[in-house]
Amino acid sequence: MSRAIRTVIYPGSFDPLTNGHLDVIQRAARLFDRVIVAVASSADKNPLFSLDERRKLVDAATVAWPNVESGDFSGLLVEYVREMSADAVIRGLRAVSDFEFEFQLALMNRKLDERVETIFMMPKDTYTFLSSRLVKEIAQLGGDVSAFVPPEVKVALNEKFALQS
Ligand code: ADP
Repeated sequence: MSRAIRTVIYPGSFDPLTNGHLDVIQRAARLFDRVIVAVASSADKNPLFSLDERRKLVDAATVAWPNVESGDFSGLLVEYVREMSADAVIRGLRAVSDFEFEFQLALMNRKLDERVETIFMMPKDTYTFLSSRLVKEIAQLGGDVSAFVPPEVKVALNEKFALQS
């Protein structure tokens, strides 16, 4: 019996992609047919990396997984979900501290479109302390981020901060 292709959207700023994000992407890629890592333009967050840079880093780090691709959006997530005919949104939950915001976001998205389901995935415990913000701070201060980000991201961070100093 044939069944429909299951597509999920994993949205975020990914400024930049970390091993925590990658862990969630890999888990989603095992469960679903197609995973779109949707980079939010996040202009109001004043990102370190441009939208294009963030997407290229996602592409480079997920090149080995054929059912993962990057995308980007600047409007409402629920509209992007409809546009891509996706079945659900994936979000990562690191700790209880993520819960309140994520819960609010999921329910708001459901208010905007009741068909949009949000699925939460937990990363490997070693990644629960990881955030893009901390990784940027460590890299800016000259610390080694090799254990926290894929190699392409480490290179990109070093280049960014070398240019700034
Ligand atoms: P946003 O700006 O939307 O919070 P992020 O790029 O920081 O975007 O995160 C995107 C999603 O990935 C969010 O659901 C966030 O909770 C999750 N996430 C971020 N870091 C990790 C991590 N280390 N492990 C698991 N999930 C994570």
